[in-house]
Amino acid sequence: MEEKIFECQQCGYCCHGETTVSLNEDDVKRMCDHLQMDFDEVKERYLRVTGSTIQMKIVDGHCIFYDKGCTVHPGRPWRCAQWPLHQSILADEANFRAITASCPGINQEIGYKRFCEGLSKVLAEKEKTGWL
Ligand code: SF4
Ligand code: SF4
Repeated sequence: MEEKIFECQQCGYCCHGETTVSLNEDDVKRMCDHLQMDFDEVKERYLRVTGSTIQMKIVDGHCIFYDKGCTVHPGRPWRCAQWPLHQSILADEANFRAITASCPGINQEIGYKRFCEGLSKVLAEKEKTGWL
């Protein structure tokens, strides 16, 4: 059986802070489709637009969609979907340590080398589905 490299602990750390990830055009479209609202409505309710930068609103120190988990999960931005299995981990163990320090869902027990082997497989799968 393949080792699990990650299992979300629902700690919410990645959805907290004073800013969120930025949304690209595809993210906006996916979110609007998922919420079944047009852009103006989504923008009014959920987004913070500063110049050309689109982020999600922050409420009580977390993303507006956070409520003990992501309430817009199928329509979330790709950067959210990518976290914490970030390609940069493969390039540098320091990135692995930094991301591991922020995310308790990473399986640290297996060590960096085996983690990278598992991550490579996961990223290859994700690439096929267009999420990278
Ligand atoms: S920081 Fe990691 S474990 Fe916590 S909610 Fe985010 S993905 Fe899940
Ligand atoms: S969209 Fe979902 S996963 Fe992304 S920051 Fe907001 S609550 Fe978290």
